[in-house]
Amino acid sequence: MTFARGTVETPAFMPVGTYGAVKAMTPEELIDTGSEIILGNTFHLMLRPGTDIIARFGGLHRFMHWDRPILTDSGGYQIFSLAESRRITEQGAQFRSPVDGDQIFLGPEEAIRIQQRLDADIIMVLDDCTPWPVEEARARASMELSLRWAGRCRDAHGAHRAALFGVVQGGTYRHLREASLRGLRTIGFDGYAIGGLSVGEPRDEMIKVLDYLAAQMPEVRPRYLMGVGKPEELVAAVCRGVDMFDCVLPTRNARNGQLFTSRGVLRIRNAQHRQSEQAPDPDCGCYTCRHYSRAYLHHLDRANEILGARLNTLHNLHYFQNLMREMRSAIELRRLDAYALEFSRRAAEAEQAVS
Ligand SMILES: [Zn+2]
Repeated sequence: MTFARGTVETPAFMPVGTYGAVKAMTPEELIDTGSEIILGNTFHLMLRPGTDIIARFGGLHRFMHWDRPILTDSGGYQIFSLAESRRITEQGAQFRSPVDGDQIFLGPEEAIRIQQRLDADIIMVLDDCTPWPVEEARARASMELSLRWAGRCRDAHGAHRAALFGVVQGGTYRHLREASLRGLRTIGFDGYAIGGLSVGEPRDEMIKVLDYLAAQMPEVRPRYLMGVGKPEELVAAVCRGVDMFDCVLPTRNARNGQLFTSRGVLRIRNAQHRQSEQAPDPDCGCYTCRHYSRAYLHHLDRANEILGARLNTLHNLHYFQNLMREMRSAIELRRLDAYALEFSRRAAEAEQAVS
């Protein structure tokens, strides 16, 4: 994907910068991990520090000192997660700010306007998201509302230079998902996202959706699976044609002492690492693995040293970006299926080693 602010190789993983910061990382460190695009959360940024302040700095890039592409979400998912204090109508979403309790309205036009003022490179349409499980009638009504909102977003976006992505909804109902995609394609978007997955459904359900949906998505447009996921889910989705991902797993789990490694998940808090001289991941070339032992990371975690969270985050992001790099190279060599098989074999081995 080519933007005025740089090129993004796909399949791509976007670290999540909720409040205009990928937690504990400087932009230079993010670039070192191989990150080419990051995600910003419209919902959080509009509440704090507020769009006016960021616009005064000339947009989110300048405010946070990241000069490469940024994708902003629409805020729809966070509003969906508020459950109690929100009301969805045809016009948009009314909710109570978790920051100061103010009543706030976010409709399709407002979501686009805010993302344009943040100066995002990829803007997402506002959509309504359903929980899992959900009955067909409710999934249908929500998908149809999302489709009408998508049309209003397209109109509101006008000729603005940022790319605009539509979001396919419809729960795990195939006919609804297909209708949603058809409707979005009729409106016409620069890219197509799959929303409303990874909301508690079994992994098989998610894979089933990808199996039929990805095949129907336009080949020349990026396909973005929102909020996913675990390394094995990324591999499964790339095999089905997905180009973009975002997820808090590498950063959040790092702060909880969980390191993703070529040999499975390492829980650095476990007492077994107290004296270990081993690198966290012997197969990893990141700054953390080159210089620090498991014993040291274990100690930092126990002592609640902020450096521990930083070193763990560096490693996890490096692991995720390296996984994407390996998949890109497997695609170029036309051996992605072999790569995926090898990946599952190693994952199964790792699981056995742990148990
Ligand atoms: Zn590492």
